[in-house]
Amino acid sequence: MNIKEIYEKFDAIGSLTFATINEGYPETRIAHFFAHDDEGLYFRTMYPKPFYKQLKESKKVSVCGLYGSTEVGHGEDGLPSFEPGYTIRVTGDIREVSLEEIKDKSLNRELFDLGVKDVEKYPAMRIFVLYRGKGEVFDYDFECEHRDHKLLRTNFTFNGFPEKVFSLEVKDGCIGCGRCLEGCSFKAIEKIHGKYVIDRRRCDVCGDCIEVCPVGAIGEK
Ligand code: SF4
Ligand code: SF4
Repeated sequence: MNIKEIYEKFDAIGSLTFATINEGYPETRIAHFFAHDDEGLYFRTMYPKPFYKQLKESKKVSVCGLYGSTEVGHGEDGLPSFEPGYTIRVTGDIREVSLEEIKDKSLNRELFDLGVKDVEKYPAMRIFVLYRGKGEVFDYDFECEHRDHKLLRTNFTFNGFPEKVFSLEVKDGCIGCGRCLEGCSFKAIEKIHGKYVIDRRRCDVCGDCIEVCPVGAIGEK
């Protein structure tokens, strides 16, 4: 995914959760990205706010949101149920951007113009760009209403952020019993050329395969 596609996924949600660290504790608040270009994703806050201070201190932020119904339903068995949708998150490095830089932006003029207008109306407003980051789109359809599997993850990085993705794999100790494949309700395990393989994009890391494996052959990649 490129930055424009990432922005559009966030923009479809609108209000997002922004997380920083404050005196060693995570702290969240609601904000949004208002523009994008090749340099990254842009957001704003006012400099008297603790959010601004935390951003300036850490120079990092983590953002997430959910597209679709936020309601937690309950099935006949009383367990939670969710309508299809997606979550998206990004974590990365930020820097403050001057009003002059924003005025000079030539791409996405309309989006940046709105930012300029907002700063002119609220002089304490300050703008940041998330200039490199990594993240994931977690597209879920737990009842398989639109496809034959529950989950599709899409991982991304941009502007050189190091890519490190958590995933599970079947290790060499596998004895080929097939219990993991039978037990995976996400259809994330396949038998390919006699070997059991976990598809990271479909895997929820629910742990069911780890629970049923008789020889402890499934672990972090
Ligand atoms: S962790 Fe869950 S989703 Fe992933 S392969 Fe194992 S059983 Fe399937
Ligand atoms: S349950 Fe364990 S031993 Fe059996 S096929 Fe899966 S990984 Fe191999």
